[in-house]
Amino acid sequence: MGTLEKIEAIRNGELSATENVELALERIRKLNGKLNAFLEINSKAMEEAGEVDRMLKAGEAGKLAGLTIAVKSNINVKGLRATCASKTLEDYVCPYDAEVITRIRREGGIIIGMTNMDEFACGSSGETSAFGPTDNPAAPGYIPGGSSSGSAAAVASAMCDLALGTDTGGSIRNPASHCGVIGVKPTYGLVPRQGLIDLGMSLDQIGPISPDVPGSVLLLEVIAGKNQAEGMMMDVERVSYGELNGGVKGMRIGVSPQFSNLTDPRITGVIEKKVEFLKDLGAEIVEIRLPHIEQALSAYYLIVSVEFFSATRKYDGRKYGKRIESVCGEEVLRRIMLGSYISRREYRGRYYQRALQVRTLIRKELSLALKQVDAIVGPTVPKLPHKLGTRLTPLEMYAYDYLTIPANLAGTCAGVVKAGEVNGIPVGIQVQGKPLGEEKILRVMRALEVESSKSG
Ligand code: GLN
Repeated sequence: MGTLEKIEAIRNGELSATENVELALERIRKLNGKLNAFLEINSKAMEEAGEVDRMLKAGEAGKLAGLTIAVKSNINVKGLRATCASKTLEDYVCPYDAEVITRIRREGGIIIGMTNMDEFACGSSGETSAFGPTDNPAAPGYIPGGSSSGSAAAVASAMCDLALGTDTGGSIRNPASHCGVIGVKPTYGLVPRQGLIDLGMSLDQIGPISPDVPGSVLLLEVIAGKNQAEGMMMDVERVSYGELNGGVKGMRIGVSPQFSNLTDPRITGVIEKKVEFLKDLGAEIVEIRLPHIEQALSAYYLIVSVEFFSATRKYDGRKYGKRIESVCGEEVLRRIMLGSYISRREYRGRYYQRALQVRTLIRKELSLALKQVDAIVGPTVPKLPHKLGTRLTPLEMYAYDYLTIPANLAGTCAGVVKAGEVNGIPVGIQVQGKPLGEEKILRVMRALEVESSKSG
């Protein structure tokens, strides 16, 4: 059953919110022991479902009425733990709801639990969690991708209807690609960040992960839009994506040779088939150039380390939880050390300032390309996921992020939909758009999704 059909079933009383929550809890009981996607379950979910059922009877159903929503553990949900999958915050019980959670509750969505992730969202594999790795439901034994590993795995295994992830350098899109689900990184400033525990505040965005494109559209429509309490937001009150089934006829879609230079040819093969398909549907395929895309990676890791270092200074063991350096894992510590080093050296303008210059360059290149086309399509992750537990060097791990990072540096939007498989492992196609270009990318994603469901 698709997301919209389920909402319909709940609205017309074929399925109650309580029954829907029971279904999710049953799947979690059955599968979570193996997958390790959830770190905590909301013990009040049944009670909240009862309340939603009463509202449904009274005809006051919100847009998400009765749907179960899983939340990445770096987003505050009152009464649950936002541990960031770190020992640092293992006892941190959220005192309030993040703005996105308030909006979800207002529309009748039920928070089913908190999901596993890379520690403080630092990682691309889901393996740096202090509470053990998450398995990939679509390709058991392989990493699910990260850092929103638990959210993607929970959606892929139908332990929830929809999920929230966060994306600083690819953390929604990368696991969506490896798990064969949908994920959207919204334009920077479209979704409130209040209540999100920062990794890199100039890059982080909360976004939806879902089993189908309409599911992501729905969740994005609920969470997006200006929050008066935040200064860094786009001037958009609310979004509504209207007709998504309009197709791609007449759209100009960009592809770049720089993508294939960085990508495993087997993945490129899967993507090229989808590009052919978009052409058959009447899209005009245009070659665009992104000459410096490879430099985005090193600029990103410098910027994110400096911002993360600064964000972690509050974990000194006095106010929240434990002193971070005493309990964190090696990837988090590496970034704190790197961030501290760069910050100290900065008076020479050698690292951070240069990274910012590269960021400007990438933003210009993407913006120029996006002036020529309505959307850019290409691979999401340049290589196939590794087997769980394989030891990678930091640089090998960072190399998963080559293709997702540019959109974060530029603040643009991007989404992922399954394009096919290589040896049984899902491969997602990335659709990138202009700032606030969500409607167009969602239309392209929907066209690709409809095609895949037809060809089975
Ligand atoms: N893999 C990237 C990193 O480790 C991206 C993480 C993210 O988007 N949260 O920083």
